Amino acid sequence: MKSCKEFSDGVFASVEAGGTKFVCALGSAPDAILESTVIPTQTPEKTLPAAVGFLKAAEKKHGKIRAIGVCSFGPVGVDRDSPDYGRITTTPKALWRGTDILGAFRSAFAVPAGFDTDVNGAALGEARWGAARGKSHVLYITVGTGVGGGALVRGLPLHGLVHPEMGHIRVPHNREADPYPGACPWHGDCLEGLVCGPALAERCGKPARDIAPGDPVWDLAAGYLAAAAATFTLVLSPEIIILGGGVMQSPGLLDKIRNRLPEFLGGYIAAEPLASDIKSYIAAPGLGNLSGVAGGFVLARQAAGKE
Ligand code: ADP
Ligand code: ZN
Repeated sequence: MKSCKEFSDGVFASVEAGGTKFVCALGSAPDAILESTVIPTQTPEKTLPAAVGFLKAAEKKHGKIRAIGVCSFGPVGVDRDSPDYGRITTTPKALWRGTDILGAFRSAFAVPAGFDTDVNGAALGEARWGAARGKSHVLYITVGTGVGGGALVRGLPLHGLVHPEMGHIRVPHNREADPYPGACPWHGDCLEGLVCGPALAERCGKPARDIAPGDPVWDLAAGYLAAAAATFTLVLSPEIIILGGGVMQSPGLLDKIRNRLPEFLGGYIAAEPLASDIKSYIAAPGLGNLSGVAGGFVLARQAAGKE
């Protein structure tokens, strides 16, 4: 726990707004959380007031919130000058389309607030306190209900036309070996369509978490994720690729991806640590399931001008 001085000017609030659950925390860092809670993602009318209510109650116990950081599922508006800044845009979760996530917190707490995608947040958190500490070119991929990627370039989250949508790239799909057509409503067999938890579940007739580690579907998933990691390596040149999310909890999957990656790069990239220490190039999150919450703290601290 950090010293009292850390909190003498007030505390920071972090909100990781996920498609399944919201994690809200008060504190300053992943190892300095004063109180946290998990709220299921239902409707905006239920979930947002519950999140605000938690933070209001926690603020009374632990001291005034000085800044808030929100990392959200998406797609979301991340351009500060755009009218959709802080809002969910084209999500398949119809109830959340157009929801002003950031606004819900801004209007309840008149303090500086930072906002980004859940995966850019996770990349920020991992770079500040986790597996990517000290690195400024970082890629964080989540493989869960969907697949998403966030990137830091020179330490800053990558935005642009919108924000990267790395889950929806195409990867080689051999339909003879894997006739599954893919689960993505937009693209069918994009990366997310082939390896998200629901796609694995549909192939095997049981939830992804119940598929045995020896099931051949994990070899398919590892191949697609290795192909994607090769593409991301070639396009973004990250110093580390962190793979998180529920599906990555499957024992052995991370190693299978590490083993397949060289096949897709063909020996072309000789730089370290990729060449001889692939375990530190393709890595698990250093913060476990706190990467996103940590990212919220980074955004809050930045909004407060603390770093
Ligand atoms: P979300 O993407 O909704 O934020 P998660 O990252 O926890 O949530 O991903 C949920 C998905 O991960 C589900 O499809 C679930 O079946 C799958 N999952 C959770 N635990 C495991 C596990 N140990 N092995 C494989 N898949 C898992
Ligand atoms: Zn897609």
